[in-house]
Amino acid sequence: MRIRGLVKASHKVRDQLTIGIPINEVPQFKQYVMGSIQTTEKICAAAKIKPNQLPLPSRKAYKYLKSVDLKHLPIVQHSTVQSQKRVSIRQIRSQHQQIQQQIAQVAHHSGVDSTSGQHLFQQIRQTIQDIEEGCDRKGATPANLTGQSRQIYCWLKFLLSEDNLPAHITTLQQFHHLVQLTVAQKKSSLSGKIKQPININTLTIELANMSPLYRCQLGKAPGVIKINQGFMGAEDAVLQALIDSIVLGKSPQTTSIFYEYSVSEEFAELLLAMELMVEDLTDTAQGSIHNLDQVFEAVNQTYFKNTMSKPKLSWSRTYSQRKFGHYEPSRDRVVMGLNLDAKRVPRYVVEFVMYHELLHKLHGHRLQNGRWLVHTPEFRVDERKFKQYSQAEQHLRDLARTS
Ligand SMILES: [Zn+2]
Repeated sequence: MRIRGLVKASHKVRDQLTIGIPINEVPQFKQYVMGSIQTTEKICAAAKIKPNQLPLPSRKAYKYLKSVDLKHLPIVQHSTVQSQKRVSIRQIRSQHQQIQQQIAQVAHHSGVDSTSGQHLFQQIRQTIQDIEEGCDRKGATPANLTGQSRQIYCWLKFLLSEDNLPAHITTLQQFHHLVQLTVAQKKSSLSGKIKQPININTLTIELANMSPLYRCQLGKAPGVIKINQGFMGAEDAVLQALIDSIVLGKSPQTTSIFYEYSVSEEFAELLLAMELMVEDLTDTAQGSIHNLDQVFEAVNQTYFKNTMSKPKLSWSRTYSQRKFGHYEPSRDRVVMGLNLDAKRVPRYVVEFVMYHELLHKLHGHRLQNGRWLVHTPEFRVDERKFKQYSQAEQHLRDLARTS
């Protein structure tokens, strides 16, 4: 059973939370969120099911709406007219499509270091510039982009930052390879039943910034499989579970493998990194409860003997259910979620998140065979040196569930 409009409602709410809610629209916004939740619950009750028995997209949308903290909304004052402006870019979809095709070309034929690889870089840079100029002409900035324009802009900026494009391409190649093996093996062994015929030669595979975990259209040639950008750098087992689900049909076992991954920190980290490409941050380290300068000083003293050079520190207005902090190496910046800036969040929990992010600064990211090694065993050993490690972890888990 699918609930019409629920996923759309959750996107609308997410968009609104990212740009902030104009102070005079707060009551309507609250009503909209609560109304969507109540409608869902009513429909579920009528069908004699619980909301957590809904299919994945609806269930996630429902969970997201439930997670919105209506008491601590990111409110913007009237005067910030700028942030109420909504901008979308025409023809962004076709440009996005072209770039996806170029990426596929580079992944399967020429490689990142080739001339087409260079051309791809230029094309992405040019598209970003076009979008920024488009915003500028409308007296806005990319932070005003909404919906698909925003997703695509963030995605393009993300691909150009760090070593993301090579990692993106490696994941694509790996995914393609696994699909090929899956299709070939099943043909010969006849053990698994292929749900839909796949012509590997005409199959298009894309990683994209989108809400669903994957989307596919098979059967009709040429087939298309789109997977969520968050799977970039995932291990083979995770990619294989996705493929099995797509090619052979859903099973609870494979679904749980990739679903587990989709709630992991690695996955959330990529999504947040993308969102932060346009995010406007608060311009002060002083929150309403916690002060990031002080938090940093305390952590630096206790755990790094004051040897850590101070990164830029900001609070992020983006509300993320399961991601509380993020370290951006390219800007040497730690961004902390405003949902931590609350009375019910003790200081040591904020310090723990800061400590975790500073460990990212210390350990760095390593790219090995196209996989990001982010939370290495050495990282985890260091993380456990935090004095109230278990309590802090538990507190964050509870917060992720209820915030
Ligand atoms: Zn981390």
